[in-house]
Amino acid sequence: MSEPTKNNKKSGTYTTTYKIRFYTNNLEYLKLTQQIYNELIEIYYNLIFKYDELLTLSNQKCMRELEKLTIIGLTGERPPEYFDQNAPTELRRAAINHAIGLAKSYTELSKKAKENPKQKKPNKATTFNCSTTFYKGMYKNIEPNGTVEIKLYDGEKWRWYKAKFKNWNFPENAQIQSPTIVINKDYVMAHIPVKRKIDDITPIKERMKDENVRVCGIAFSNTDKVATCVVIDRQGKVIKTLFVSGGNEYKNQITKILNKQKRNILNNKEIQQTNNNHKNYRKKTNQIINYYSHVISKKIIDFCIQNHVQVISTALSTKDKAYYYTKSKKNRPIYLRENITNYINYKAFRKGILSTIVPRKDKASKCYKCGGEIQSRKLKTKCENGHQMDYYFNYAMNVALESLRKYGIKI
Ligand SMILES: [Zn+2]
Repeated sequence: MSEPTKNNKKSGTYTTTYKIRFYTNNLEYLKLTQQIYNELIEIYYNLIFKYDELLTLSNQKCMRELEKLTIIGLTGERPPEYFDQNAPTELRRAAINHAIGLAKSYTELSKKAKENPKQKKPNKATTFNCSTTFYKGMYKNIEPNGTVEIKLYDGEKWRWYKAKFKNWNFPENAQIQSPTIVINKDYVMAHIPVKRKIDDITPIKERMKDENVRVCGIAFSNTDKVATCVVIDRQGKVIKTLFVSGGNEYKNQITKILNKQKRNILNNKEIQQTNNNHKNYRKKTNQIINYYSHVISKKIIDFCIQNHVQVISTALSTKDKAYYYTKSKKNRPIYLRENITNYINYKAFRKGILSTIVPRKDKASKCYKCGGEIQSRKLKTKCENGHQMDYYFNYAMNVALESLRKYGIKI
């Protein structure tokens, strides 16, 4: 059998922002730098409204005009809005872009408020406390161990200072973009956008027109088989099925910790100690949840790649979110559903597979072959018309078929 090939692949890029702790021995200089950055934002923000025709320009053109207004050019003449600047070009440009962003969003909101009287009128910004974005030229030499150099103002001069990203994993096949350094009360964070190439960003609607499109439907369960995945083709024919187990193992691990926690509450009279332990238990349960969500989602993605799936379909009901926040149900395998779905979505996307969601209603309770009622919730079940099947296989089939129907394919 020849494997289907993806026609007319459209490649693209996508950016995720990593948020990681940032260590510097020069917090004071960082604060000083941020102050200068915000002074620049304020000046340029006000200039944009003084010359408000600038708002109609693209960001890049707008920046060029603002620089022409404020910076001495080749002619050596002072432009009309010249002011004494003590900042590297890259810091100024980041500040200008920030100011343009703020001004444009203000204009956008005012426009909306004019069109819709119910919408609140926005206020122009008067104070600025933005986190500094370090453009290339303000940062350099990110090493695989996470050290980086950033240019800071020390009250006298702009100098390079060493700093460090905590737990930095150099992303492979990716491009690091300008980090924003966020100063919090007790700690500093770096928000680092990372740009990756995606093999295929063709929208689902287009993919579904492809004769060879393959869809994977996923059904989550509260049993040991946490996820059941069925790959079907455009005609609804089953290509391959995967049952992912691990539900019991997960349940046991979480239960152990929850039981320990219970005992601990009974035995421990000291409130501070109990609070600390609580934190530890929560950390441990979260680690387990993350671990299983990663492992299970990876199995599903690998399976989808092997079987040339282009669209993944999962089912969601409005009740699912509420369930997720019932913390007492952490020890049930179905609790993993939300995390696994999130992981699948972003992992799949990186591999050029898109995800879609269908309503969960009737997916488990109706037979995928005839639409008849499913007789019992047992694993081996049958419908009122006698079709025998695995309960979760039927569920996953309905989820897969529904995604085809959603895009107008008649089954
Ligand atoms: Zn049936």
